[in-house]
Amino acid sequence: MLSVLDLFRVGLGPSSSHTVGPMRIAKRFLREARKSGLLATAARIEIELQGSLALTGVGHGTDKAVILGLLGFAPESAEPEAAEAAFQDTVGSRKLRLLQGPEIQFNAVKDIVYRGDLVPELHPNGMVLRLYSDAASSEPSFTRIYYSTGGGFISSARRLARPTKNDVIDDKGHSPYAFGSAAELLSLCKTKGLAIDELVLTNEDQRRPREKTLAQLDFITDTMLACIERGLVTSGILPGGLHVQRRAPDLYRKLKTGAGVNEREALFDWLNVYAMAVNEENAAGGRVVTAPTNGAAGILPAVLRHYCCTDEGEPIRSKSQRFLLVSGGIGLLYKQRASISGAEMGCQGEVGVACSMVAGGLAAVWGANPAQCLAAAEIGMEHNLGLTCDPVGGLVQIPCIERNAIGTVKAVNAARLALHQSGAGKVSLDQVIETMRQTGLDMSSKYKETSEGGLAVNVVAC
Ligand code: SF4
Repeated sequence: MLSVLDLFRVGLGPSSSHTVGPMRIAKRFLREARKSGLLATAARIEIELQGSLALTGVGHGTDKAVILGLLGFAPESAEPEAAEAAFQDTVGSRKLRLLQGPEIQFNAVKDIVYRGDLVPELHPNGMVLRLYSDAASSEPSFTRIYYSTGGGFISSARRLARPTKNDVIDDKGHSPYAFGSAAELLSLCKTKGLAIDELVLTNEDQRRPREKTLAQLDFITDTMLACIERGLVTSGILPGGLHVQRRAPDLYRKLKTGAGVNEREALFDWLNVYAMAVNEENAAGGRVVTAPTNGAAGILPAVLRHYCCTDEGEPIRSKSQRFLLVSGGIGLLYKQRASISGAEMGCQGEVGVACSMVAGGLAAVWGANPAQCLAAAEIGMEHNLGLTCDPVGGLVQIPCIERNAIGTVKAVNAARLALHQSGAGKVSLDQVIETMRQTGLDMSSKYKETSEGGLAVNVVAC
C-alpha cells in the first residue's frame, strides 16, 4: 500500500507529472551523483526529456522545474517568487550551481534536449540525465533514467520494471488492512466493522503517529483553502501566451455582492468559482496540492470548501479529515490498479480520477456507508471514461480550468445519485477502474498529453 499522504503533495503548478515530478527527479539525480562522488567534478549536465515531457514540456514549465530541482529546490517548500527569481537568474547568467555544489556553465536551450520522437516503453514521461566531468567530452561520467509517473510520483527504470505482487505496491508500513481492489476494501470494512476513513487511518497508523497524520491532513486542507483564497482575488492574464483571462475573481465578486445568489443554480456558481480559483493559480505556477494531480487539483478543494467548511470558510476538521481519507483511499485504488497520469490515461486519469475520489469522499461526509461511497466513486468515473487530454498550446489552461469546474459539479451529482441508490449498482468500482485502464491503453497517443490532437490542433494557440 502507498500512503494517502503520497497522493496529496504540495507543489508548484502547473503540472504534477511535468513540473513536480521532474523537479524531484533533477534533485534526486544530483543527490545520487553526490553519493557516488561524481558531483564535485561535474563540468556539464544534459537533461533529455522524452515523450510527453518533451511534447508539452515547454507549456507545462518542465524546463523551469528541472532547473529548480538542479538548484536544490523541492516542490513542497519552493516559494513561487523565489523560484521564479532563481530560474530567471540561471537562464540569464547561463550559470548553474548544482545542489549547492559546483557551479557550471548552463545553456537552457542547448542543455535541455527535447525528444518528443522518443516514447519510452515503460512510461511516456521519460527523463535521462547525464553528468560530464569534462565539458567537451561526449562520454558522461554519471547517467540515470527516471520516469515521472503522474501526481508527482517518480520512479527509476528498475523500479518501474519490477512486477507488483497482488496489486499491492511498496507496502513499507505493512498496512494491517492492505487492499488491492475496491472489493477487498469493502470486504475489510464489512468484516472489521469499520468505515472507509477509519480503515485508511488505521493503515496510516503503521507509518507515523496518528496525530502526525491528522496534522498533515489539516495542513493539506489549509493549503488547499489558501490556494482558493488567492485564486479568488488574483486577477489578470495567465502566463504562456494564450492570453487566458482569470475568471474566478470576477465571478466571486458577483457572488459576494449577491447577484444571482438566490437562483437555484447558484450552487454551480460556488463550486465553479472555487475550482477555477485553484486551477487558475495552478496555471500561474502557484502553490497547489496534487489531488491527485495538478491538472485536476481544483475538484477536491472546491468540494472541501463548500461542504467541509463553515459559511465563513473555516474548516470543520471532522469533515475535512474524513473527506480526505476516503478520497485518498479511492485514489490509491486508481494509482495501484491503473494510473493517474494524463500521459498514460488521458484526462480520464486526472479529472476523471479526481471526480471519482471526490464523489466517494463527499458521500462519506454525507453519512453514506462504504458500499455507497464506492458506488459514488464508480459513478464519478463511469461518466468520465474516454476523456482525452488535449491541452491547447501545451498549457494547463484550456480545457483544464473549466474541466475542473465541470468535474466538481459532476462529482457532487455522482454522490447524490449513489446516496439515493438502493442495492448494489450494475457496475462495480473495480470494473470501471479496469475499463479506464484499458481505455487509456487503447487511446491514441495524440490524446494523451501530447497536444497533437483534439482541441490542441483545432484551436489556434495565439
Ligand atoms: S486536459 Fe486534463 S489531463 Fe490534460 S493537462 Fe488538462 S487537466 Fe491534465
